[in-house]
Amino acid sequence: MMNCSSRAWVEIDLKKVHHNMEEIRKLIPKKTKVMGIVKANAYGHGDVTIAQELVKCGVDFFGVSSVDEALQLRTGGIREKILILGYTPIEHFHYLHRFDLIQTLMSVEYANKLEQYGKANNVQIKAHIKVDTGMSRLGISCVENKWMIQDIKKLYSFHHVKVEGIFSHFAVSDSLEKQEDLSFTHQQIKLFNQVLHEIKEEGIHPGVVHLQNSYGILNFPDLEYDYVRPGLLFLGIYSHCDIKTITHPNLLPIMSLKANVSLVKWLDPGSSVSYGRHYICAQKRKIATISIGYADGIPRNISNLGAKVLIKGEEALIVGNICMDQLMIDVTHIPDVQEGDIVTLFGQDGSRFLGIDQLSKLADTINNEMVCRISARVPRIYK
Ligand SMILES: *Cc1c(COP(=O)(O)O)cnc(C)c1O
Repeated sequence: MMNCSSRAWVEIDLKKVHHNMEEIRKLIPKKTKVMGIVKANAYGHGDVTIAQELVKCGVDFFGVSSVDEALQLRTGGIREKILILGYTPIEHFHYLHRFDLIQTLMSVEYANKLEQYGKANNVQIKAHIKVDTGMSRLGISCVENKWMIQDIKKLYSFHHVKVEGIFSHFAVSDSLEKQEDLSFTHQQIKLFNQVLHEIKEEGIHPGVVHLQNSYGILNFPDLEYDYVRPGLLFLGIYSHCDIKTITHPNLLPIMSLKANVSLVKWLDPGSSVSYGRHYICAQKRKIATISIGYADGIPRNISNLGAKVLIKGEEALIVGNICMDQLMIDVTHIPDVQEGDIVTLFGQDGSRFLGIDQLSKLADTINNEMVCRISARVPRIYK
């Protein structure tokens, strides 16, 4: 189960994925399905393993950011539908039909290229149209004019690109506090619905329709589209613990980050710890060296800010600058700390739990980034 020969590792509790999925399904309409967004290696959790677990939960559609990520899923045995949410360069178009992938059409020009490719090679490529309702990232700009509808209509008429769905993406669905943000999200929903309405007016069936990411689900759970697109939620985390939401599912974080104690020593008053000598012992201190550092994904800029870890069910502070492969903690108040003891950087330590929010907050970022930045050299161990 646990690979204690590793200097640092991630533990992932797959049972909690099932619990989190049930919590998501309680929020959304009965007929709405879940597209599992497993881009960036499922936010660092391991894309194939998480996708396999989601398949067991009944998920039949996945979203990734690139062809490479899609191929990783296919190679790992995932046979469900896969939507590439981002850009695929022309020289990789052949993977789309070879591996039965669905490509996002982010502009008319791009769709034309894909159609030309399909024609030249006599293949049909599946696609979903992305409409830009305010994110200004990818998608056919959804200003209220007829041109846009004519463009979209044209895409549905292509022969070598088979449009099977249409979607958009929220920009501030996590924000309820500012009236301006709330109006913005309502405007995005309105624009998206208008597009859908006009497509149907033209006698076209839009295919599979989807809009909500995790916060779209939490704050606008009643929208009745075919799919929702959560990434964070089934991993059991929020972007930030301070963000208020309309619904409050009981999500359980599935990831814990652990490392070993490699050395314990007593330091005299006046001794300094680590590079830069930013931490000086005021009294005699017992300091433990831990085998995890910024190359593993612990942000260096949280050094000397009072970040806590758990060891033997107690809290200890990170002291001194965080190094590439190591960091130091003050364990003066904890008896019997020894080489080989396990330190929890975040997650579950026996009956105690330390949220990832602490690290994200000190690093001035969101939990989404914290989990993604845990580097590839840290083994993922599944329970
Ligand atoms: C990343 C992403 C999602 C999932 O976002 P979460 O906030 O993790 O739920 C959904 N849709 C698109 C287009 C994305 O890029």
